[in-house]
Amino acid sequence: MVQKESCMKKTVCGYCGVGCGLVIESGKLKGDKNYPVNRGLSCAKGTTSLEALEKGHRLLTPQMRGHREEFFSPATWDEALERIADAIRRSDPRRIGFYLSGQMLSEDYYVANKLGKGFIGTNNVDTNSRTCMSSAVVAYKKSIGIDYVPLRMEEIDQCNLLIIIGANPAEAHVVLSTKMKRARKRGCKIVVIDPRRTESAAFADLHLPLRVGSDIDLLNLVAQRLIREERIDESFIAEHVKGFERYKAGILALDSATLLAATGLSYTQFETFMHLFCESENVISAWTMGLNQSVQGVDKNLALINLHLLTGKINKPGNGPLSLTGQPNAMGGREVGGLATTLAVHLDFDDASTEKVGTFWGSDNISKTKGLTAFEMFEAAERHDLDVLIVCHTDPVYHLPNRHRIEKAIANIPLVVEINAYENSETAAFAHIRLPAAPWGEKSGTQTNLDRSVTLQRAIRPPSDQARADWEIFAALGKKLGFDEAFAYESVESVFDEYKEMTKLSEKGHLDLYKTRYEQLEKAPFVWGEGLMKGHKFMTEDGRAVLHFVVNKALSERPSDDYPFILLTGRTRDQWHSGTKTAAVEKLLRYKPLEYVEIHPHDAEKLGISDGDTVEVASRRGTISTTARITDTVQEKTLFLPVSDRRLNYLTNDLLDPESKEPDYNHSAATVRPIPTKETEAKD
Ligand code: SF4
Repeated sequence: MVQKESCMKKTVCGYCGVGCGLVIESGKLKGDKNYPVNRGLSCAKGTTSLEALEKGHRLLTPQMRGHREEFFSPATWDEALERIADAIRRSDPRRIGFYLSGQMLSEDYYVANKLGKGFIGTNNVDTNSRTCMSSAVVAYKKSIGIDYVPLRMEEIDQCNLLIIIGANPAEAHVVLSTKMKRARKRGCKIVVIDPRRTESAAFADLHLPLRVGSDIDLLNLVAQRLIREERIDESFIAEHVKGFERYKAGILALDSATLLAATGLSYTQFETFMHLFCESENVISAWTMGLNQSVQGVDKNLALINLHLLTGKINKPGNGPLSLTGQPNAMGGREVGGLATTLAVHLDFDDASTEKVGTFWGSDNISKTKGLTAFEMFEAAERHDLDVLIVCHTDPVYHLPNRHRIEKAIANIPLVVEINAYENSETAAFAHIRLPAAPWGEKSGTQTNLDRSVTLQRAIRPPSDQARADWEIFAALGKKLGFDEAFAYESVESVFDEYKEMTKLSEKGHLDLYKTRYEQLEKAPFVWGEGLMKGHKFMTEDGRAVLHFVVNKALSERPSDDYPFILLTGRTRDQWHSGTKTAAVEKLLRYKPLEYVEIHPHDAEKLGISDGDTVEVASRRGTISTTARITDTVQEKTLFLPVSDRRLNYLTNDLLDPESKEPDYNHSAATVRPIPTKETEAKD
């Protein structure tokens, strides 16, 4: 019998990667003044979390149906779990997939990963973090030898220049953006590099509205100037970096005029940026999806990290490449092993690691072959190579690119299980079994926020109706499959204790979560791996970071006469993904609507589109109708759609970065046209 968690008046926000502490006062949520991450700051999403819990369309009982055409009928937990276990027993492990989420807590992830990789024997255990963070993971590993954010958020206070590239913290990381504004008041210069004039650009000292897809050109141009003008840190490079000569030869061979022309920036804009860069002693760069979600996402990350390695602006206070995670536990999922490309606790699938992990779990059933990543699971389904897909706390039909293709693929899977706290997902239409999960507020556990800070979410009320925490669901399935001993957890803390013990196996001893405990986490986050690269010892085999020469290969979808626009996508401040929670809260609908398309005034004029018109946005894959917002915050021949539009991915292309397998969400060829009204039709 699982112990019910005690309910608390303090917890941590479950939306973005900042991880703000929240406290309930007079029935209302507020930023916790005593919590070191946010010191009382919060945003509207965080403080309306209780309302979302009340008003969201909750899934409260297990449900099953034989075929997708049938209505769901209520089922008992035992019936539902038995049907899943039966399908797993009858299948081959290679034909089973777990699709997890950065919304799951580390304890949830741990048990799911242990069941999938450790006992069922499938490494097809991947997460929706694949679609937002995997390019950064691969780049960090390639350049500094480890998936490790080498600085803390608070170091923004020590930097002289903050470069925000391909990120919009004013909308996606609101409390962090407040800290950035405060740093600016103290004298830090802020440069925003983004094709759109975002809300973050509004508080910057300089906005560089580069052409979509030219990030590598710009970053290489900066590198070239640094080398040519001898503004690099030669002794740092000589001692701590390798690959310089090859990199230098590649960079110097590039034509600077061509690079600048590719960015679309003026000479003055570039020079202003160079001046700021060269004059700043401490430089932090922060990025998210603008770099990651690309067919060259890894290369874009590397091009940026290269600048830190060239100048030695890394591993010292107020410096470094700060990847911003969008989801609260995108980083924790990576640590536990929630990516199909790692086994557990940052270990790979080599002989030594599988043996260590197998011994720890008491299982000899671990496969040494990497699993299928998020999109690859659906490619397998297209080939009828997937029998069971368990989707937990996420909505792949909504968020994966080229949705028509995803819908066809998922319809081929004989058993789709959806574990979700809310019933109105887009994946629900394709599920055979739906299991009610406890959401934020009804479960406890840890998450790792964007700068390695492990924080503790506490349940503030018991699970509603029949809802259960994800870890309980996976443990119950494990027992159903006969692995009673391995999944006999008494409480969420007992899961954490086991996971903590496992972190001692992490190859470089860096994942030192074993040093903390829940009691401590209630007061302040625990930051794993602190001081790991002190003395500039990187985590590569020889301790030296690696410069990778990359060029812009322009692999994204090209515009054409029929699809002359480039479609960009992104978050808006008060909405979270598909809006199962945030779209249910009235207050959160006031800032920006859920569905609209931003069009530049010149394009709108040429097309005869006025603000507020209903328009059709189409790509080579699909068409949606939405409302036009005419604004010069987007460049000509570009469109912007918010991710709160659930139909967005009918439009997006399904190109993937070859190394990270992260989709190219931010570069789809598209078109926009007015939808004729009855009056215009009559005139014609
Ligand atoms: Fe929550 Fe992020 Fe807002 Fe903080 S900034 S309250 S973590 S959504």
